[in-house]
Amino acid sequence: MSSEAGIRLGVFLLVLLVVASLEFLRPMRTWRESRKQRWGINLGMIALNVVIQRLTLGAAAVAMAFHVQAEGWGLLNLVGWPPWLVFVVGLLLLDLSIYLQHVLAHALPFFWRLHQVHHADLDLDVTSGLRFHPVEILLSLIYKVAVVAALGLNPLVVLVFEVLLNAASMFSHANIRLQPRLERVMRWFIITPDMHRIHHSIYPQETNSNYGFFLSIWDRLLGTYTQNPRDGHESMVLGLSYQQKQEKLGLKNLLLMPFKPLPRTSLEPEKPLPQGAEGKNEQ
Ligand SMILES: [Zn+2]
Ligand SMILES: [Zn+2]
Repeated sequence: MSSEAGIRLGVFLLVLLVVASLEFLRPMRTWRESRKQRWGINLGMIALNVVIQRLTLGAAAVAMAFHVQAEGWGLLNLVGWPPWLVFVVGLLLLDLSIYLQHVLAHALPFFWRLHQVHHADLDLDVTSGLRFHPVEILLSLIYKVAVVAALGLNPLVVLVFEVLLNAASMFSHANIRLQPRLERVMRWFIITPDMHRIHHSIYPQETNSNYGFFLSIWDRLLGTYTQNPRDGHESMVLGLSYQQKQEKLGLKNLLLMPFKPLPRTSLEPEKPLPQGAEGKNEQ
C-alpha cells in the first residue's frame, strides 16, 4: 500500500473510531432505523467506492497536481506568492469549489438523481458522510482534477484537503450533541453536525441551504446559511420526502436509484411532514 493510501485509511479509521464513540456517549437524536442494517448498507457503499476509485481515478487529483506543478500550469503557479500563502489560498479555493459543486448537485436534475442517494439516509451518523453513489464519486473526481489543473494546486494541498474533507464530512454527519457554546464557536469556522443536519431535512428550503462540507464561511457569504431547523434537531425528519421507507433503501435499490424517474413530488416547492413528525424548535 502506498503511503498516501495508508494516510487516508489511517485517518478514516481514527475518525470513525472517535466519532462513533462520541455518538455512543453523547447522541443528539434517537435512532429511527436499525443501525446494524444502515451500517451494512453505508459501509458496503463506502467499500464499493474505495474499490472503484482504486481501479479508476483514485489518485488522479494528486497525480494531476504533480503534473501541473512540473509544467507550471494553473492560476497559483503564475502569481509568485510565498508557498505558505499558496497553500492557504489553495485550500480555501478547493473548499469553495466543493461548495459550488454541491450547489450544482442540488440545482441540476441529472446531478440530483445521483446526489439524492446521499440524502436518502433516514438517520445520519459518521457513515453517512462518505455514503455517495459511485457515479457521483467518479464525477466529483473528474471535477476535482479539472479544478486542480485550473488553479495549479500542488500535491500537498490536494492530499491535505482530501484527507481533511473526508474527516470533516464524517464529523459533520455525526449524531452527536456538542456542548452548545462549543457548537456556536465551532460553527463560525467549520460545518458542525447541527449545521449539516439541517441540509438533510425533508423540507426543500432547509435542504437547499448549508451546502458547505468543511468551512462554514461560504454559506454565510453566499446567502445559503440556515441557523436552525424548523422542527428542531431532535424532531426534524431526515431523508427524502418521497422515500421514507427503509426497506426500499437497501444497497441494490440505492445503486439503481439514479436511473429511475424522479418522483413528481421531488420537484414540488414544499412538502408536508410525514405522519408523527410534528416537533418543536428546541433552540
Ligand atoms: Zn446535498
Ligand atoms: Zn450530507
